[in-house]
Amino acid sequence: MVFKHEYDTVVVGAGPAGVMAALGAARRGTVLLVESAPMPRDKSCGGMLNEYAQEFLGRIAPLPSSMVRDPEHVHFRYVDWDRGIRKPTGLRFLNVDRREFDDWLVSLLPDNVEVVGLAPVTGFEQDRGGVRVSVKHEDSVHEIRCENLVGADGARSAVRRTLGEGSVSNYVTLQDFCRLEGELEPYFDCIYMRDIGDCYAYSYVVPKGGFGLVGSVYYPKTKRPHEKQDQTMEILRRSLPALGETVKREASVALHVRAATDVVAGRGRVLLVGEAGGFMSPTSGEGISYALNSGMAAGEALAGHSPDEALAAYRASIDPIARNIARKLRWLPFMESSWGKYLAGFVPTPIVSKVTEGL
Ligand SMILES: Cc1cc2nc3c(=O)[nH]c(=O)nc-3n(C[C@H](O)[C@H](O)[C@H](O)COP(=O)(O)OP(=O)(O)OC[C@H]3O[C@@H](n4cnc5c(N)ncnc54)[C@H](O)[C@@H]3O)c2cc1C
Repeated sequence: MVFKHEYDTVVVGAGPAGVMAALGAARRGTVLLVESAPMPRDKSCGGMLNEYAQEFLGRIAPLPSSMVRDPEHVHFRYVDWDRGIRKPTGLRFLNVDRREFDDWLVSLLPDNVEVVGLAPVTGFEQDRGGVRVSVKHEDSVHEIRCENLVGADGARSAVRRTLGEGSVSNYVTLQDFCRLEGELEPYFDCIYMRDIGDCYAYSYVVPKGGFGLVGSVYYPKTKRPHEKQDQTMEILRRSLPALGETVKREASVALHVRAATDVVAGRGRVLLVGEAGGFMSPTSGEGISYALNSGMAAGEALAGHSPDEALAAYRASIDPIARNIARKLRWLPFMESSWGKYLAGFVPTPIVSKVTEGL
C-alpha cells in the first residue's frame, strides 16, 4: 500500500460509523479509511439489527441474504431469571453474522475511498490548513494531510481523547459461542439475574446458526470478568440444556453512556461518529443504528459544506440523535435499580412491549 500525501478526508476505524462517513465524504473527494485491525475485521457483537438499522440499510442497498443466520428474525424478550418471568415484546431483530455484515458495508464504498487494514492512527494535529495525521503501517509511520478527520474509532476512541473531549467509561463484555445440543427458543432473550452480584448488568441469549450465543455485560472495572462469565454460563446451562460447550469466547468493551454530555460532535476540523462520539443506546446497548446514522450525518456534512463549516452542519444534524439519547438516559435509574427490575415483572406484557420499543 502506497499512501498519498493528501486526502480530502481521513476516517479512523472501519466500523459502521466509519464506513458511512466515508461513503458520504466520497462525494466531496478522496477518502482514506484506516483500520487498526486486519480487514475484514472481527467485531464482537450480538449481530442483532433492530428495525431502525434495517430501515436505514433498506435505503442504502439490499442486504445479502447470505449474511443472515437461522432463525432469520427473533423477537426481544425480557427475562427475570430468578422469578421465571418471560415477557415477549414486539421488537423484531434481523439475526446476522457481524463479520459478514461489516465486510458487506465496506463493499459499498466507491473507488475513491482507499481502505487499509493493520494501519492504526497514532496521532494527529490540527492547524489552520487542516489536519496532519500519523498512520502506522508495515513498520513505517506515514504523515498524511487532510481537510477533515473523522474519528470512528469506537468505545476507546483515541481521537476523542486527543481532542481533549474526555473519555466515556466502558462496560466489559464477554460473549460465548456455544454448540447447540437441542433447540433454543427463537427469541433474543435479555436476562436479568441477581446471583452474579453488583458488577452484572445483564446477559443475552440468542440462537445463531448452529450456535447459541450468550453475551454478558458487566459494569466498568469489573474484576475477573471471565470468572463471572463462567458463573453466569453455569447458571444459564442449568435451565437451558441446549447450550452445549463453549467453542469460542470473545472479550470486548461497549460504551457506558451516563450523561447527555457524553455525546460530542468533535472539534475544529475533526468530527466524532459512532461510539467515539458517544452514540449508543444507554438503555438497550444497541449501537449499530446509531453508528450508521451518525456516520451518515457526518458524511453528508462533509459532502455539502466547506471543511471549516462541516462540524457545525454535523452538530446541527445529529441534534435529534443526541436528544434521543438524553431521553433514554432518563429511564436508566429505573431500569438499573432492583426495584425497577422487580416492578417490571408485574407490568402487563403489552406495556413492557410498548416501553421496550422506545428504549
Ligand atoms: C459484545 C457486544 C455485543 C453487541 N451487540 C450488538 C447488537 O446485537 N446490535 C447492535 O446494534 N449493537 C450491538 N453492539 C454495539 C455495536 O457493536 C457498536 O455500537 C457498533 O459496532 C459501533 O460502531 P462504530 O463504528 O462506532 O465502532 P466499532 O464498530 O467499534 O469500530 C471501531 C473501529 O475502529 C478501529 N480503531 C480503533 N482505534 C483505531 C486507531 N487508532 N486507528 C485505526 N482504527 C482504529 C477498531 O479496530 C474498530 O474496528 C454490541 C457491542 C458489543 C461489545
